[in-house]
Amino acid sequence: MAEGFLGWANRNFDLAADACGLSPSTRRILLEPERFLHVAIPVKMDDGRVEVFTGFRSQHSTSRGPAKGGIRYHPLVSADEVRALSILMSWKCAVVGIPFGGGKGGVICDPSKLSKGELERLSRGYIRAISKIIGPASDIPAPDVYTDAQIMAWMEDEYERISGKKSFSLITGKPVEVGGSLGRGEATARGGYFVLEEALGDGDYPAKLSVAIQGFGNAGATLARILSKDGRFLVVAVSDSKGAIRSETGLDVPALLAHKERTGSVLGFPGAKELSNGELLELPVDVLVPAALEGQITKENAGAVGAKIILELANGPTTPDADEILRKAGILVIPDILANAGGVTVSYFEWVQNNSGDVWTEGQVNSRLEGVMQDSYRAVRGIAKDRSVGMRAAAYILAVSRVARATELRGFY
Ligand code: NAD
Repeated sequence: MAEGFLGWANRNFDLAADACGLSPSTRRILLEPERFLHVAIPVKMDDGRVEVFTGFRSQHSTSRGPAKGGIRYHPLVSADEVRALSILMSWKCAVVGIPFGGGKGGVICDPSKLSKGELERLSRGYIRAISKIIGPASDIPAPDVYTDAQIMAWMEDEYERISGKKSFSLITGKPVEVGGSLGRGEATARGGYFVLEEALGDGDYPAKLSVAIQGFGNAGATLARILSKDGRFLVVAVSDSKGAIRSETGLDVPALLAHKERTGSVLGFPGAKELSNGELLELPVDVLVPAALEGQITKENAGAVGAKIILELANGPTTPDADEILRKAGILVIPDILANAGGVTVSYFEWVQNNSGDVWTEGQVNSRLEGVMQDSYRAVRGIAKDRSVGMRAAAYILAVSRVARATELRGFY
């Protein structure tokens, strides 16, 4: 059987555990989630049938704070994927130094085949099913692939009905009207943009940079918009689940966003050539941004990657074997647990605002985010230089040592 996402997450952890000299006990504790819940969610469908969906919630480590992590709706969600993503969340929160542990949830479903009413009943049903293990001080969910602010609003509302209390801080990524934070919708992409700027300052790169983005959803499309407003970047290729498009002279991003909104896909955009998602990854661009799903850059295609920098907005887009090939080829990989940590950082800001009853301006959110991302990038780069390791190994060393220290300070018996 193929190793899979959980195996890759464990391999990265093992390397960092060796580098940090972790004790066998701490290592054993951090290897698996503290708690993993498997739930069956009955949903009354529009035609009167009852369908039972399978869902999961994983809490990896809560040594540094409440578990934190998104909820994914996708037909390929699995227990191992949710476990791996929750482990990644522990490292991500630790890299950016926010006081959260790692959590993740998922439901096996195809949201594109559900009506709005079915989606709402499924979302409420999922929260009822996991309500005993989540809460503003224990486990705080958020959006992930194919879940959005509307779904978070239904989930928050369901939790309030169960608990009988108004508790905006249960869930983050909510609409601003029901306790969401300004800037949260674009935080993942904006955080990626801030670390990319730091990386560009470190090397000798052209004045105009070409960019290819795989995945045109919350993370990928938002980054395309941010980059297109910055005169330094030319977005030359993008893709979604239906296929990829390319224009050597650069895509008109605002027009492309409108086209995607209208047609549901990037395909068919006037003036652009079509290519496959695989071909997009191999384009000779300055910056490649995987912003879709895991396992996209593998040992089979890593040697053909033509980019100088890879900014991992997706979680786990590069397998460890591929990572080694990229490192040897001198390609700078800004790893997921750093590159996409802007989302969880602003989720933390949202939770802080909800708990204190405060409301920050978008400017306050963005400038605090910039500070966190810059500091985190510099800390990771410092470790990479001191230890002569790649950025992923450095980010893992920083994260694992922080989580391990918190675990050991709490003690185990
Ligand atoms: P999304 O559902 O908004 O968008 C996903 C996009 O990927 C869609 O455009 C979809 O069409 C496309 N896609 C799906 N399969 C594809 C394939 N095989 N090839 C090319 N494109 C494909 O999801 P999102 O929130 O943008 O998340 C994308 C990635 O970023 C995920 O790995 C997620 O875990 C990660 N991430 C997201 C956030 C966030 O705040 N949204 C935070 C951290 C990490």
